[in-house]
Amino acid sequence: MAFDIEMIKKAYGTMAERVDKARQLVGRPLTLSEKILYSHLWEGNPTQAFTRGKDYVDFAPDRVACQDATAQMALLQFMHAGKNKVAVPTTVHCDHLIQAKVDAATDLARAKTQSNEVFDFLSSVSDKYGIGFWKPGAGIIHQVVLENYAFPGGMMIGTDSHTVNAGGLGMLAIGVGGADAVDVMSGMAWELKFPKLIGIKLTGKLSGWTAPKDVILKVAGILTVKGGTGAIVEYFGEGATAMSCTGKGTICNMGAEIGATTSTFGYDDSMRRYLKSTGRADVAEAADAVAPYLTGDAEVYANPEQYFDQVIEINLSELEPHLNGPFTPDLATPISKMREEAEKNNWPLQIQVGLIGSCTNSSYEDISRAASLAKQVADKNLKTKAQFTITPGSEVVRYTIERDGFIDTFDKIGATVFANACGPCIGMWDREGAEKEERNTIVHSFNRNFSKRADGNPNTLAFVGSPELVTALAIAGDLGFNPLTDKLINEDGQEVMLDEPTGNELPPKGFDAEDPGFQAPSEDGSGVQVVVSPTSERLQLLAPFEPWNGENIIGAKLLIKAFGKCTTDHISMAGPWLRFRGHLDNISNNMLIGAINAFNQKANSVKNQLNGKYDSVPAVQREYKAAGVPTIVVGDHNYGEGSSREHAAMEPRFLGVKAVLVKSFARIHETNLKKQGMLALTFANEADYDKIQENDTFNFVDLKEFAPGKPLTIELFHDNGTTETILANHTYNEGQIGWFVAGSALNLIAAAGNA
Ligand code: SF4
Repeated sequence: MAFDIEMIKKAYGTMAERVDKARQLVGRPLTLSEKILYSHLWEGNPTQAFTRGKDYVDFAPDRVACQDATAQMALLQFMHAGKNKVAVPTTVHCDHLIQAKVDAATDLARAKTQSNEVFDFLSSVSDKYGIGFWKPGAGIIHQVVLENYAFPGGMMIGTDSHTVNAGGLGMLAIGVGGADAVDVMSGMAWELKFPKLIGIKLTGKLSGWTAPKDVILKVAGILTVKGGTGAIVEYFGEGATAMSCTGKGTICNMGAEIGATTSTFGYDDSMRRYLKSTGRADVAEAADAVAPYLTGDAEVYANPEQYFDQVIEINLSELEPHLNGPFTPDLATPISKMREEAEKNNWPLQIQVGLIGSCTNSSYEDISRAASLAKQVADKNLKTKAQFTITPGSEVVRYTIERDGFIDTFDKIGATVFANACGPCIGMWDREGAEKEERNTIVHSFNRNFSKRADGNPNTLAFVGSPELVTALAIAGDLGFNPLTDKLINEDGQEVMLDEPTGNELPPKGFDAEDPGFQAPSEDGSGVQVVVSPTSERLQLLAPFEPWNGENIIGAKLLIKAFGKCTTDHISMAGPWLRFRGHLDNISNNMLIGAINAFNQKANSVKNQLNGKYDSVPAVQREYKAAGVPTIVVGDHNYGEGSSREHAAMEPRFLGVKAVLVKSFARIHETNLKKQGMLALTFANEADYDKIQENDTFNFVDLKEFAPGKPLTIELFHDNGTTETILANHTYNEGQIGWFVAGSALNLIAAAGNA
């Protein structure tokens, strides 16, 4: 059903030769990360050594995974690639659109009604194009991937930042935007700057109250939310091999919180055990046959300082349980210091809710250890002081923990079991009373704790901890409680201590589920109809963008000259606009509404040169489009920084903007603009930004000679009758000019497919 052992064997079949060749070219032993990178080059066998943090390299990932919020636009675009099937194994997971409110059954039923058309769309597109579809309730993308698809030494991309979770099974798994996923699904290469490498040596062994989560909470405290940027974090050492595979997954998952490209661990017995336990003994056998290639060379781990860009060492035997927060995942506090810190910072000590689960921490090991604490509530005649919730990561986990009595144990402490979905982790938590915005404290085992992330209340202070610590704190109802040293008073007035958590790494009776929630695609999807209602407000089929007409652009008007920071959030806001992610026309009503107009310093107020009136950016642009008037957007430095969301490039393209001319681009956004058939240009002379006036008209006079390395000439006509000529640089190569000519990269792929 789930994984493709032949694909994995094929990948392993070429690995040895490629890694050996890379070692020769690089001229030294290799880290695991380098082995995986060099064995996944688009060109096949390596022919050169790359410089970390500098060279852009084309890769060929083994898999793609998409979640329901990001999959909508990705699949709408893929439908234009002219392919019958996806080029690499791909799955879609329905997990983000399910709100947690009452309980699993009620919430799931409501979500199926509210987002029915989105789920139906994703299901039918998956069926048609050979994509595995995981229905609502099947589980959270990263847990399902770990259980079914991740494999040691593999490379995958996913349209979600916590795709990195699959590093727990020795993969390089990387979160990307929808445009990148579409490229790979369509059979194109995927480009990445060759990452830097951070080595983390784990010595000693976890014990007692300390869990894998505490490793990443500690690392986040050291590296901060930016410390991993542009780097792969590779863990090794005796502490790594002594840890469970799912524990490794937790650590890799939260690598996203330090900004790392991804994180990974070398293949070891914990991975072998997990593969066998999840029905993949044949993957373990195939991995065993190439085991030396699925971990770093011994010399690298013996002298890591010589081979990594940065090395951190953590002794697990001395590591204390941590709580990170509030409002940022890198504010790390050992539990022994928590009361002092909370009092110093005036954080409310009373805990209102403890939440465990999510894609980060809902393994059998996590849940069984948390249940061992919940069980002590009855055994020691305690009363749980805070509310308690569980969001299982998958139906397989949920079914198995129910069968083994853990749900029953949690029931006895009054817990609510939410659907196998993201729920409270992504703000899809309809928490009673949250609208009152009262200051309060919650503890959870999720990964992110930014303001409003869980319940939308900016005054909820969320602290991140291991599931076992969260459970102990929920029982105590006190943020300052240290279960290693502190006593609780039970219902008989006696002082009692909680015993250390215990559990099983894997279920002794194996994993099980009546219905894991998977829908396999049709062998031949040609007859499958993809239905999108023309009156839908959430989904809209895309029409291919028009090819270039071969003419110079004459008489373009200035839509907006953006002042200062203009991120993808300024260009295509998130929040309430998320519901329109699958409807390009509707979501285009947020185009550039956050950008500041350089001429009046206001957001979403620009002059319409056709009538002299000020209006919102989308409204003005729609009027230009209706009048057939081309427009351009002008911006400052690092235009389009932030997320890789392709909507920020598709919206201006859809509404008729022809060019974006800025001092400098964030690279991913620049590429996204190129892919959508736009002109992404930079001022040859930055000071020319100041020449742009509110009533300017632009002529691109030599667009017919558009060529790699040749600046474009733009004439500016000011409304005082003067004219100036400026030069605009670009980074288009021949192939990318082909995207512009065809109208978009997808148009070109589709044309090639039909040729
Ligand atoms: Fe993202 Fe949270 Fe869902 Fe995991 S559970 S995929 S972190 S929203």
